[in-house]
Amino acid sequence: MRLVLLGPPGSGKGTQADLLARKFGVPQISTGVLLRSQSADTPLSAAAQRHLAAGTLVPDEIVVGVVAERLARPDTAAGFVLDGFPRTVPQAEALTELLGSAGLDCVLEFTVPPDEIVRRLSGRRECGACRRSYHLEFNPARADGCDDCGSELVQRADDQPATIAERLKVYASETLPLVVYFRAAGLLTTVPANGSVDSVFVQTLAAVRPAPR
Ligand code: AMP
Repeated sequence: MRLVLLGPPGSGKGTQADLLARKFGVPQISTGVLLRSQSADTPLSAAAQRHLAAGTLVPDEIVVGVVAERLARPDTAAGFVLDGFPRTVPQAEALTELLGSAGLDCVLEFTVPPDEIVRRLSGRRECGACRRSYHLEFNPARADGCDDCGSELVQRADDQPATIAERLKVYASETLPLVVYFRAAGLLTTVPANGSVDSVFVQTLAAVRPAPR
């Protein structure tokens, strides 16, 4: 199963990617997670970290390199769920080239109204140590710190209001053209992602269509 999930920040695509990856027994490949986990000890990776903090896109050649390396690992033999990649038309073209005749099964686009996105992102918190994620309103921790390890919960630098606005702008200008790109390829299905995690997952599963082989 080779899937791509598209959607603005806060659309819940990371959560749905995790559920899909478990369901199909394939890895979730999140470029946000891969990029955030890189150290900033070379000029190229330091530049990537600056883009992450500002909510702007890391240059295509860096991201495509990271994804090419990840897709070359043997655990992707049965497929993958790409979460946050591609985000530009050149990245989509690079992916098409990387996959060759194997291609994608389908692309799911998650849509959520803008005010709901801001509510979701500004309440998001994560454990500073184990990275477990929480939400002040929808998924609060039971105590002051992380339920698993007790460490302090922190807000991602790019979940601050000014950076959220920048990320939404970047999504509209750079990533939305992919909706047209993948629709033209006959791969796109749109999933309204305004409901609960469980109800969105039901719709997500219904939208997954394996490509004929
Ligand atoms: P995410 O965790 O998917 O919200 O991504 C967080 C940040 O990582 C984005 O705001 C970008 O700075 C960077 N990023 C993640 N995926 C990509 C990508 N495919 N292309 C460029 N930048 C990316």
